Amino acid sequence: MAVTPVFTCLCGIQKKSTNHWVLASVTPSGISFMPWDWRLAQSDDIIVLCGEGCAASLLSRSLGEWKQASPIEPELAVTR
Ligand SMILES: [Zn+2]
Repeated sequence: MAVTPVFTCLCGIQKKSTNHWVLASVTPSGISFMPWDWRLAQSDDIIVLCGEGCAASLLSRSLGEWKQASPIEPELAVTR
């Protein structure tokens, strides 16, 4: 018997067949979203999201991390 995997969104909701879930992939070079794919969803590096709301919050969180990670522009550090 095959084990049915349980997909859980970042917000804690578990996937049911009727939900319109999406997938996200966060890499060192950026973030990408893709339509739900049952096989892809089982990958370790794929984030499962229950919908547009959670996809948006993941995106804004990533944008916040990019801002923190970006170094200070050299010209802004120069005092006149
Ligand atoms: Zn969610």
